[in-house]
Amino acid sequence: MSDVDLIVAGAGAAGFAAAIRAAELGASVLLAEASATFEHGSNTSMSTSMVPAGGSRWQDRLGIVDSPATFRDDIMRKTKGTADATVLHALTDVAPELVAWLADDCDVPLDLVTDFRYPGHSTDRCHAVPDRAGRSLLRNLGSALERHHAATLIAPFRLHDVLVEDGRVVGGVLQTPDGSVEEVRSRLGVILATNGYGADPALVRRFAPEIAEGVYHGGDGSRGDALRIGERLGAGTAQLDAYQGHGALAVPHNVLLTWATVMHGGVVVNIEGERFDDETIGYSEYGARVLAQPGRTAWVIFDTRIHDACQPFADYQDLLSQNAVRWADDVDSLAETIGAPAETLNKTLADVARAARGEAADAFGRPTFAGELVAPFAAVRVTGALFHTQGGLAVDADARVLTPALEAIAGLYAAGGAAVGISGNGASGYLAGNGLLSALGLGYLAGQHAVGTMVG
Ligand SMILES: Cc1cc2nc3c(=O)[nH]c(=O)nc-3n(C[C@H](O)[C@H](O)[C@H](O)COP(=O)(O)OP(=O)(O)OC[C@H]3O[C@@H](n4cnc5c(N)ncnc54)[C@H](O)[C@@H]3O)c2cc1C
Repeated sequence: MSDVDLIVAGAGAAGFAAAIRAAELGASVLLAEASATFEHGSNTSMSTSMVPAGGSRWQDRLGIVDSPATFRDDIMRKTKGTADATVLHALTDVAPELVAWLADDCDVPLDLVTDFRYPGHSTDRCHAVPDRAGRSLLRNLGSALERHHAATLIAPFRLHDVLVEDGRVVGGVLQTPDGSVEEVRSRLGVILATNGYGADPALVRRFAPEIAEGVYHGGDGSRGDALRIGERLGAGTAQLDAYQGHGALAVPHNVLLTWATVMHGGVVVNIEGERFDDETIGYSEYGARVLAQPGRTAWVIFDTRIHDACQPFADYQDLLSQNAVRWADDVDSLAETIGAPAETLNKTLADVARAARGEAADAFGRPTFAGELVAPFAAVRVTGALFHTQGGLAVDADARVLTPALEAIAGLYAAGGAAVGISGNGASGYLAGNGLLSALGLGYLAGQHAVGTMVG
């Protein structure tokens, strides 16, 4: 393979954003992807494509008042002040430019999601593709890359290591599935966009033990390669315990049931027919909550109004086609469907109805129900899952990898799940959209910075 200006490893949101941005600024780019099936197996492909930005032109058009600072405040509130401040500033500041770039330069058909709001966002600021499917986002990014003749995507080629000369990263060692390796030089260095460690059970047990028993529902390729490569070069790491969990992975189908069901007024009960927390605290921390219930499962209960509101989600359509949504005409038949004692479930739903009508405070402190549940009832059996990890290599505002002494390692960048994110520690700091913003935003900034170092 010929030498290039820049190697980007990993063809997810981070890798595509980095490669497209660097190519459009004039660099020759090799985007090396380890998996031949990345279009369906990466985290980006499995996501619901929600990209948050505070102060975007879509918000302006609808008269929604928002800004990078307001968005930052929401993230700091969700993470209880523990989000990495440098990365947070960089990402919230670049987000309006990023979503405009995705739409204008990459032809991604983004629109603002206004029909529901995820927990923790003080206003509507998530931008998504029409079918709210990450695989569509990925397809759009793939087409955008193809329009740049100086950029080449090769798969399956795994970045095994990087080449270092005089303390600077100057290329990569690429490996094919049959084990043969090839060295490629890249004068601007290497961007690690290989995601986190969610697919490595030993690393999950070590850094995020509370979710280790949950179903892993993320990309197969997230094996911690960036950590291994970075650590060999003396890179620092940060917030490795951070992850996005989810409290509503439908079982046995292993398809995401959107938390929009809950935000529109649905509730989560265990097989005893009891609720166990305020569902609006966040779907990420709910993963471990559901795993703590009998049988490690729970049921999300909703109704026809909510069922109608969830139609735009491709994942929801998938669940419907697999008959994962069970219907019951009244609470007694619902109890039979989910195997809970009818008396308990009747009491639980009567309490919910009173709280939804504003006649009594919710026992778990849930602030809003967005409407009363009305028969017939729908129920989906769910479990707690690990989606992806949010800690990673320490980086600066340009996605340059840092040593523990905060010195940049020349020519080495990390973006997306490979880098520290903006979710603080544990599961509870994850605000919807933190994943794709870290991926697309740090990728964009890394590609831009790498080209900025190009002389002649
Ligand atoms: C079900 C689900 C729903 C989600 N919904 C949302 C959402 O709506 N909004 C949001 O913001 N976030 C969401 N997320 C999180 C989001 O998808 C991720 O944070 C984001 O996609 C990460 O992008 P990435 O580029 O870092 O990783 P990925 O998309 O996983 O891409 C990494 C790529 O690197 C490849 N790779 C790994 N190692 C190597 C190597 N050594 N060499 C070459 N290639 C390698 C992998 O095969 C993979 O293709 C969701 C995640 C899941 C699982």
